[in-house]
Amino acid sequence: MELNILTFIYLIGAITFILGLKMLAHPDRARKGNLLAAFGMTLAVIGTIFLYKDEHGNRLHNYGWIFGGIVIGGIIGTLAAKKVKMTAMPEMVSMFNGMGGACAALISIVEFNRMTSHPEITSLPPSGFLSVSVPHGELLIILLGLIIGSVSFAGSMIAWGKLDGNIKDFAFKGQHALNLVFLVGVFALAVYLFVNVNDLFRFDGINAVLTGKGHLIFYSVFVLALLYGVFFVMPIGGADMPVVISLLNSFTGVAAACGGFLYDNKLMLTGGILVGAAGTLLTILMCKAMNRSLANVLIGSFGGTRAAGEAKKQQGTYKEITLSDASVLMAYANRVMIVPGYGLAVAQAQHACHDLEKLLVERGVDVKYAIHPVAGRMPGHMNVLLAEADVSYEKLLEMDQANEEFPTTDVVLILGANDVVNPAAKTDPSSPIYGMPILEVELAKNVIVNKRSMKPGYAGIENSLFFQKKTSMLFGDAKKVLQDLIAEIKSL
Ligand code: NDP
Repeated sequence: MELNILTFIYLIGAITFILGLKMLAHPDRARKGNLLAAFGMTLAVIGTIFLYKDEHGNRLHNYGWIFGGIVIGGIIGTLAAKKVKMTAMPEMVSMFNGMGGACAALISIVEFNRMTSHPEITSLPPSGFLSVSVPHGELLIILLGLIIGSVSFAGSMIAWGKLDGNIKDFAFKGQHALNLVFLVGVFALAVYLFVNVNDLFRFDGINAVLTGKGHLIFYSVFVLALLYGVFFVMPIGGADMPVVISLLNSFTGVAAACGGFLYDNKLMLTGGILVGAAGTLLTILMCKAMNRSLANVLIGSFGGTRAAGEAKKQQGTYKEITLSDASVLMAYANRVMIVPGYGLAVAQAQHACHDLEKLLVERGVDVKYAIHPVAGRMPGHMNVLLAEADVSYEKLLEMDQANEEFPTTDVVLILGANDVVNPAAKTDPSSPIYGMPILEVELAKNVIVNKRSMKPGYAGIENSLFFQKKTSMLFGDAKKVLQDLIAEIKSL
């Protein structure tokens, strides 16, 4: 009966995951979708703790450890989520993703030790020799969970450091060869262990004990997978980071699904598969949007060989525009296109941005937003940011659509975007972002760029757009500038 209740709880959990994921597809319903899935997960965790029985009918007993972990983790998670600045969200998401990978790897370690500490022993007729028989299906899942979870954990930690700005892109000659050595090493050792595991035991009179060699091979797989995770993300630069982040996300999902297989827990399996599938789809979409193949992202680096720090030194002079000139230009335009970027998130200027849009629309200006797929610091960052300020979804144009509309646009207002409008991606083969599709804002009649200084963006390179004839710089924090623009336009 209890098992049936638990199965029913898992079914409810699975349904909430699917509905929650579906609701995440629309900004209006995303928050509710998240809460719904969290409710399903909470129900499933409580159900498992109190109703789960193993094949011998034993319940969970180590409640001290379970609730100790839940309370400590819950407090740390709540405080971290409450304290984190909106601009640091991508880092936090990356870190939490890494924690999922670490959990999957730890499950594999625990289960490997459990499995090898009480292996099935058979006596081989007619000799009577004792032999060990380890379930190979289970071992395969353990090894997959260990490898994928470890790569995801180590890679996400490096991604966290990179988004935080504490870890710089780091590549050296022979980097790809070394990565290949780690990867081949991981799989060679895992296959060796898988094939020979039964021979890696010795008998101590009563029990079969895994030899030191067996332990060494297993933990070498773990360490090499961690090293691979570090070295595979380390050299990946600016424009490829979004793809890697969604790829690591899908790894964590697959690693969690391995845990579901191991424990025959359908809900864990469903959750893992949903995360894995969503992450894989996002990876494919990001690759498409960036005009890249996945292999290219993983083995090659984007664009040319010039590193970010060695940016070409510029480029003539730039001109500034006053607040009043900028407001006149926009207030009397027919069409204005706003290009939001990471700086808009830093300034938390999304509400002011929406206010400006409403004001211009009241004056009869047609206002839209051009959204680049990697603007900001996480996939969908600009959509989430603008949805928070209730900007209508219909006003957001994807990159291709926006590029078609720029030639008939009077004014482009760039708010804290830089790399995603950098023409070097089209014109400078030595640039690290060469080949990345960009928003072709220079096709519009006028371009106003708001940022605080002439400093580069994430890729660390100069932007020739700022020096073009059509472009005027409007320096200042995006929120303050938008508020001042609103005041100016109201006074016209
Ligand atoms: P960029 O990082 O290229 O540029 C942001 C600009 O915002 C900076 O040049 C900065 O200039 C300006 N800025 C910062 N704070 C403010 C502020 N308070 N007010 C006004 N301006 C401000 O951002 P983009 O969105 O154009 O490009 C995103 C980059 O991040 C791409 O290279 C992408 O590959 C990378 N990336 C994206 C991820 C994703 O998933 N979306 C993940 C990881 C990396 P200044 O300091 O002068 O103000």
